[in-house]
Amino acid sequence: MGSACGAAAGNFDRQLHQAARNDEVNLAKAALAKKRSSLNSKDLAGLHTALHIAAYEGSAGVAQLLLDAKAALGAKDGSRDTPLHLAAYMGQVAHTRIAQLLLTKRAAADEKGADDKTALHLAARRGQLEAVQQLMGQGAQPAAADKEGDLPLHEAARNGHVAVAQELLRARVPVDAASRNGKTALHVACTWGQEAVVEVLLQNAASVNAADICGNSPLHEAARCGRRFLCERLVSCRAPLEARNRDQRTPLHASAATGNYDFAGTLMQYGASSDAPDKDGDTPVHLAAFYGRTGVLDVMMQLRVVTLTLNKEGRSPVHRAVQGGRVAALKLLVGVAGRPTLQTDTPDNQGETPMHLATTLGDGHEVVETLAQNPGTSLEARRGDGLLPLLLAALQGKARTVECLLRAKAQVQAVDSSGNTALHFAAGGGHLSVVHALLTRQASPNVQNQRNETPFQVAGTRGYVEVARAMNPFVSVESTMPSVVTQAGPGAFAQTLPYPTYPAPVTLPGMALAGGTGSFSSDTARARSLPPPRTGKEPLMSLLRRGQAASPAASVTATFRSIEECISAAGKVEEEVDPITRFACSPNFEFFKPLGKPRRGDWLAEKKETGQTYTTYSRRMKPPMTPTKHTDTILLVPIGHSFSEGIAVKFLSYLIDYCTAFFVGMTVDVLDKPLSLAKMRKRMNDFMHEQYLIADLFDALHSETRSHRKAYCRLGITMEDIYPGEEWNYVFGQAKPMERVGVFSFARHSPFFYNGLHASQVKESASHEQQAVWLRACMRTMVHETCHMFGILHCVYFHCVMNGSNGPHDSAGRSSFMCPVCLRKLLLALSYAPAVTGVLPRYQAILQVLERLLADFADPSMEEVMSDISWLQKRISSLPAS
Ligand SMILES: [Zn+2]
Ligand SMILES: [Zn+2]
Repeated sequence: MGSACGAAAGNFDRQLHQAARNDEVNLAKAALAKKRSSLNSKDLAGLHTALHIAAYEGSAGVAQLLLDAKAALGAKDGSRDTPLHLAAYMGQVAHTRIAQLLLTKRAAADEKGADDKTALHLAARRGQLEAVQQLMGQGAQPAAADKEGDLPLHEAARNGHVAVAQELLRARVPVDAASRNGKTALHVACTWGQEAVVEVLLQNAASVNAADICGNSPLHEAARCGRRFLCERLVSCRAPLEARNRDQRTPLHASAATGNYDFAGTLMQYGASSDAPDKDGDTPVHLAAFYGRTGVLDVMMQLRVVTLTLNKEGRSPVHRAVQGGRVAALKLLVGVAGRPTLQTDTPDNQGETPMHLATTLGDGHEVVETLAQNPGTSLEARRGDGLLPLLLAALQGKARTVECLLRAKAQVQAVDSSGNTALHFAAGGGHLSVVHALLTRQASPNVQNQRNETPFQVAGTRGYVEVARAMNPFVSVESTMPSVVTQAGPGAFAQTLPYPTYPAPVTLPGMALAGGTGSFSSDTARARSLPPPRTGKEPLMSLLRRGQAASPAASVTATFRSIEECISAAGKVEEEVDPITRFACSPNFEFFKPLGKPRRGDWLAEKKETGQTYTTYSRRMKPPMTPTKHTDTILLVPIGHSFSEGIAVKFLSYLIDYCTAFFVGMTVDVLDKPLSLAKMRKRMNDFMHEQYLIADLFDALHSETRSHRKAYCRLGITMEDIYPGEEWNYVFGQAKPMERVGVFSFARHSPFFYNGLHASQVKESASHEQQAVWLRACMRTMVHETCHMFGILHCVYFHCVMNGSNGPHDSAGRSSFMCPVCLRKLLLALSYAPAVTGVLPRYQAILQVLERLLADFADPSMEEVMSDISWLQKRISSLPAS
């Protein structure tokens, strides 16, 4: 393929292509007379012949001339479309003439193009009725199936082209023909809310009982889009109200989950059952509660169908609202707003009441508050293991939840079956703010549990100096600090706790405080097991810190940062003059979650990352290490010939746009000639594909881009698998911040990599969704590597696009966005052009690219892209007005 493209580029005749674009017949004649060999040559990008261009632009004169000169009728463009595809797609008068010319010359009417679509598919998608008639008049198959098994009728249905649908049905296309995923045209029209097409299909006896491969009926699909009219129309045609899909869900489940209350209400008025269980035993009420669909719940309340049904886990709708963290839905259900009350204390199969669940939620204090206000809620209900809500909250260090419970008069001295109070739990986990909350409500640090340990002793045993200090004023005389420290046994307390949810227990002999002798800087293992220091004032704490710094091993806790460290890593945000920047660079836990403790196999569990605060960055990175107006370009360098056609070309336009948006203010340029892989060192990977040595790619990047003076950094992109050295299996990408070069590979992100298909060959088999997910992964890797070239190191503070990642299973590295720490670094680097950079334009530009991605790939199941989009929308609306 590579050589063919080279030949095409060699013959390329700009004049001929320009003539085709503007229908300049004489110019085209002259060009052909001069160089006849250019008749079928493609443009520089290797995409289109002159005939493609004429067909697309409607240049009938030049098209006639080219056809008389016997131009190739079946030439394929970069997406495998023929000139006939393009003419049918455009469908205006001039295009119809050209299509006629092509067909008269016997162009194959059913030739398959991109995604195996025929010209008829494209004409149907665009609603080009004349083109549809013309093609069928020339024998085009009205029932041709594309790669997904869609017929032209599906295309017309999806896009609401009534006249075309009618025309196709007149040609006896089977109205219930199903695509590969089992969807009929009626499914598709319902999904996209195309009411007029639904009407036509029903008039043509389309089946309302058709099930797709997930078992969804047209009514399920309509429930998702939520048009009430569709509901009424389908039901009037006897669409089954209780049709079950693979998950045993009915259309009412679907509309309850998506929150289409009008639709749900209509279904229930027709008699749809609100307590039909799905495969988990969840009824539509459960789902509405879990997803917080208050509109649906409201309708259900009015119809008096909300009951205390339990699912297979024994959970009621109240449980489900708590699980989803849905405060408003909960208020409706438990009747805080003066409505009928639903029982709030029913335990599930594990003995958990909604209140137990609420205390274990991520940020559940509002849920707890709502439940606590309901007189039917008991604060002293014991879970299967004997724990009470207050004990659970204390165990997990949830200070605000603890405060809520205490305000609602939970018993502060209540104990578990081993005699532990909430203060024991808080002390054992080193949760200082919980300890404070409990002490304020008269919790005693002197109560002994069954092992005769007081909370004060527990804190001492585990080395929580601050916590012990907070309790000190309340401690009775006989248990003073030194005696505590020398008496308690190793790790005794750890075994009495039901859950080891706080930092790893002290397992070493002897005491963490070691009687204040300050001798443990040599014992790295011991230092590692201590919690991160909280303040830097006391001499004792500075000892702890020295102990940590001396730890040579890349240990788990060495790269796990405390909340305080995460916050202070963003530096003095007050210094930022612009209020939006100040806001955006302040750590805000609503949008950015601190990294949890790394799991085995995570990057952070295996690699020693020192972390890079904003202050460190700003001291080092000053122009010309950061971009200047003379070096304001990011140069993308395609590597290997895959970039002259196919999926890589499609991806490249997104990469350029995403990069431009992400690094707002920078210019993004693409090196016009891909680097050749011919001389690079390589080996075979596990899938018998060539894998290239990154060092060689870096060398070529340097030597081939030297003349590009405005390039601040150079990023190689390739469809080939890459590796940095013999000891590595592979990497997604690598960057050298000092030299400002980087490389990243599409290969491993491909949906078919692990099936052994080479990235450059994927297009044939990937669905839109798979392509979009792949592309999104590439976009994220690209900006990650590019940020490295801006001197930004791996982020160890928040979930962030700059997290190091050990692959798809890494618990970090899933965010697409920069945390406040990294964002502030990037904004500093881009500040050479303050007029064009800025937080808001940057977010807006990124949002636009993602929205285009969503529209172009038009797949409603692209959850990751959707969630990125909704994050951005939320984030943008949270920014202060400037
Ligand atoms: Zn990295
Ligand atoms: Zn970050």
